[in-house]
Amino acid sequence: MASADTTTASSANGHSADGAGIPVDNPATGEVIAHVPDLGAEAVADLARRGRAAQPGWLALGFEGRSRVLLRMQKWCMDNAGRIVDTIVSETGKTHEDALLSEVSYAGGAFGFWAKEAAGYLGDEKVKTSSVFVKGRKLVVRYEPLGLIGVIGPWNYPLTNSFGDCIPALAAGNAVILKPSEQTPLTSLLMAQGLHECGLPEDVFQVATGRAETGAALVDQVDMVMFTGSTATGKAVMERAARTLTPVSLELGGKDPMIVLRDAELERAANAAVYYSMQNSGQTCISVERCYVEEPVHDAFVAKVTEKVRAIRQGDPSGGAGSVEVGAMTFAPQVDLVEAHVEDARRKGARILTGGRRGAGRGLFYEPTVLADVDHSMTCMTEETFGPTLPIMKVRDAEEALRLANDSPYGLSGSVFSKDVVRGEQIARRLQAGSVCVNDAMIFYEALELPMGGWKASGLGSRHGADGIRKYTARQSVLVSRRHPKRDIHMFPYRKRTSRMLGRMLRFLYGRGDRG
Ligand code: NDP
Repeated sequence: MASADTTTASSANGHSADGAGIPVDNPATGEVIAHVPDLGAEAVADLARRGRAAQPGWLALGFEGRSRVLLRMQKWCMDNAGRIVDTIVSETGKTHEDALLSEVSYAGGAFGFWAKEAAGYLGDEKVKTSSVFVKGRKLVVRYEPLGLIGVIGPWNYPLTNSFGDCIPALAAGNAVILKPSEQTPLTSLLMAQGLHECGLPEDVFQVATGRAETGAALVDQVDMVMFTGSTATGKAVMERAARTLTPVSLELGGKDPMIVLRDAELERAANAAVYYSMQNSGQTCISVERCYVEEPVHDAFVAKVTEKVRAIRQGDPSGGAGSVEVGAMTFAPQVDLVEAHVEDARRKGARILTGGRRGAGRGLFYEPTVLADVDHSMTCMTEETFGPTLPIMKVRDAEEALRLANDSPYGLSGSVFSKDVVRGEQIARRLQAGSVCVNDAMIFYEALELPMGGWKASGLGSRHGADGIRKYTARQSVLVSRRHPKRDIHMFPYRKRTSRMLGRMLRFLYGRGDRG
């Protein structure tokens, strides 16, 4: 099953209510809210056959025809925003605001963006050549959709980071199979239903619910894999894809540093540090994971941050808008990991200024936590925590902050806070990360024109911008000879006189050392 229109034993948005399959929990309450099918390799192969059969018809609609469907879906997302928010909140435990502002809003922007920009990014590009051998010919670079794209997504943003990558793949003219995390499949099924209602042809978008094995089976079936998740699983996906030489794009983990310089506007820096480390319970790949603060402002900054974190209301987000700032965590083993990082830091001498305990009851909660007196012997500063924690380290100067910020296997994003924006930018440019901000963090994700991708162990390739859609295509170079002699000078037969003349020409063109 799993395409929205071909559900079996299912409720309206495609998940079975009969107790069979994979249980989906509400992490804030521990209650099982649905079951979804666990698709095996044969079922995935069947989805792939259907996707491949449907793709040429979708491609034939052209950019304009596809845009119409995507724009209808943009409106559908706004008309159904409440329903989407409720679904996301129920399967992730995140707050109403996190679901609305970081997910529904992203979908609204992305459907409009790709509907409008796909033709421009994928249109034929005329190329001029510097080669005398080719002058006069028409040269064009063009993009052909790859066919069937497999998107494998994580649980932290079921819409933005799972379904979101399907939008440009569809805009390019591909069929797509999305394998959402087994923790959070319901949002993907709801989006499939929306696309169906908006007129997307049958089987162009399908959802393969299941576990790791379903994801692995999908890698075997598709023409390209867009994977978002942990670095360890990203490596496994790439290894598997290598067997069939299937291209991959990987958006992986991060340990994003924030640097606060002595001349920073401390109130803004503290607000940003708190929001961008605690939002979504800290379960954001580009969240602030660690903070380096110059000595003269360290204590004042720590005091401000601690006060603000103490004021955070955490709890079951089912109260709706404005009820809590931080909701539940989504994945039980993640709570264990956060606890392990905090305990490791505590044992090695860190001070826990607020928080530092998991929540009681059945829901998955860990208190918003501020750690001081931390260093790089502690896992909270070197490994991805992916939870509501903010470790803050005192540094002598900006150079020490940079050295420590770059002392990481990851390189997803980073930020620098300073009133001197010129110096702030100079320092930000020296961060080894795919996206950097000055006096901001994370918000670059909203600029769909900006490529977003990791350096080092944080990924391969990128989403957004031109590469965010071209990666779903095969590039073709076209050369057309319109006016030509019967035989070009370089063709057979070789003659001494012609070769000498060509040699002189080469020396004239490239032998003078000043012409490049
Ligand atoms: P995982 O790597 O555990 O899982 C990601 C997806 O891969 C899930 O759908 C999972 O299925 C599936 N999967 C697991 N094993 C395999 C396999 N062998 N072959 C194919 N698919 C497989 O990541 P999480 O879901 O735990 O997500 C959290 C991670 O994602 C964090 O490290 C975070 O930093 C990263 N992330 C990166 C982002 C970026 O843009 N760079 C954005 C968001 C998150 P199942 O869940 O059913 O096991």
